[in-house]
Amino acid sequence: MATLKHCPDCQRAFGFFRWRYQCPKCLRTVCSDCLRRIPATEWLPFDVFDAPRNLYLDSYDGFCRACWDILILPNFRQYENAIASESFITCWPRTYKGRIPVRSDSRGEPISTTWQRNRDDADKMLRVHAAYLQFNAVIEIERMTEVQSEGGTSKKGTHRYTAWKASGVPCRID
Ligand SMILES: [Zn+2]
Ligand SMILES: [Zn+2]
Repeated sequence: MATLKHCPDCQRAFGFFRWRYQCPKCLRTVCSDCLRRIPATEWLPFDVFDAPRNLYLDSYDGFCRACWDILILPNFRQYENAIASESFITCWPRTYKGRIPVRSDSRGEPISTTWQRNRDDADKMLRVHAAYLQFNAVIEIERMTEVQSEGGTSKKGTHRYTAWKASGVPCRID
């Protein structure tokens, strides 16, 4: 089989700065400019692109545009929408005494964040997660502080390490 001289997607010639890349999904060769990497979704506590990463990306960097659009784009859009609507998520503290207008048929599985260095990040991560699940409200927000000791009982080995974690139940409100 003759080696391709031009990228089939953008028609530009391969060369030193435009190297060949084989898409691990469709196995077509495209150029490095047409290679699309998996975007970071740092405001979610899990990897949304875990499946395509594990299935196709053993030693590759990304996909051709067509495969990226199929494998990555829908979840990435959902993530971007979640980031954009995160501030509209309503949260109540666990200690809230009033009546929260939760629809009885609309409770999701409890969610929680990973440990975060600061409080606002934990809060935002929980909101993004709820928005990603397309729930519009979260109750039972909880934040925790941790003190880690590095073995032994001496005070010197104790690090006051403050970390924040938010958790809650996604739900819909009336
Ligand atoms: Zn190209
Ligand atoms: Zn492809």
